[in-house]
Parts: sequence; structure tokens; C-alpha cells
Amino acid sequence: MLVSMQTAGGKQMVDDDTFESVLRQSLYRFDCPDAHTLGEYELDVLGASERTRIASHAVDCAECTAELAVLRAFLATPTRVPEPFVERARRIVATLLTPRPGLAYGGLRGAGDTSMRIYEADDVTVTLGPGSTRGGLLGLVVTGDVEPAALGGREVRAVPGEGSVVRARLDDLGNFELDNLSPGAYALEIDLPHGVLVIEELRVG
Ligand SMILES: [Zn+2]
Repeated sequence: MLVSMQTAGGKQMVDDDTFESVLRQSLYRFDCPDAHTLGEYELDVLGASERTRIASHAVDCAECTAELAVLRAFLATPTRVPEPFVERARRIVATLLTPRPGLAYGGLRGAGDTSMRIYEADDVTVTLGPGSTRGGLLGLVVTGDVEPAALGGREVRAVPGEGSVVRARLDDLGNFELDNLSPGAYALEIDLPHGVLVIEELRVG
């Protein structure tokens, strides 16, 4: 059957199917809730009457049903894959402050305790010196924005190129002592509230 319909080109006689498809296009999502409202519906934060209105609309609307399915799948996808703490934590690499790298050794000779080293990163200072026993390393961590008490119990790790990691804990004043380090190169990792402070290439010998 042919029907008369008004189009941009004037009045035309079109068949039923064309009429229906044009009608559907002009009504396309005409009474659909907007994307924001659909999102709120899916998150279940709408009031009761609004929720009922969307639900009864979506039952008859293929587009909204499809959109809600996409939203549901999106919301069900974990946004972050859990990682081990040390990988997730921010790594802050400390640099040697004293003795200055590149400074001629001659300049340091006789300048007091040259085995004392001070490293710095952001507002964290780490002072390292020989421990009370051979192979021991004493350290003090001072942070500008963290109370020393917040450091108590946090882990310090001396990670050798090969062999096992030597661990110690910070006390309430930021002190630590690592024992029985074999001579060699280590990376020192210190767990801090805002990340892991790393001293690369620490030589023990
Ligand atoms: Zn709809």
C-alpha cells in the first residue's frame, strides 16, 4: 500500500516499508534518556520514579537495552589489575650528596670520616656509615614531611646483584642497621610512606 508523506522534497507517495523506516529514523531515540541518565540508572543512584521510568522505557527500547549492556560490561571490568606492592609503589632514586660524585679523591683525603655517605631525594636524606661489626651498615633516614614515628617498622632491603637480600627495619627515629653484608655492590631500598626510596650502586667492601 502507498501512503502520502511529507519529506524534504515535498509530498511523496511512498510504500509502507519506506514510510516505517523514515518514521523510525525521525523518532530515533526521540524519547530515550540521555547517556548520563542511563549511567546513573546503571549505577542505581536515581530516585524511585526516575528509575521506574527508565526501566519501563528500556524494556521496549533496543538501543537503550544495548547501551545498558555496554555500561554494565564496562562497570564490571576491573579498572586496575592488582600488582605486588613494590612494583606499584613509586620508586624514588636518591642521589649521592656527600662525598660529591666526580670530586677528586685527593680533595677528600684526610677530610674526616670519608666512609660516611649522604644521599638525598626530594626531601628525604639518608646517611650511611659503617656498622658496629664488619659487614655492617648503619643508616639514618630523615624525611622533611613525615614524622619519624611514622617510619618505625618500615623495611630496608640491601639487594645484591646476586645472592640473598639482607633486610632490616627502621626504628621510631629512622635508624636502621644491616648486618653481615658480603663485599659487593647493592641496591638499597627503603620503604617510605610515599614510595620506595632507592639508592643504586651502593658499594660495600
Ligand atoms: Zn531508548
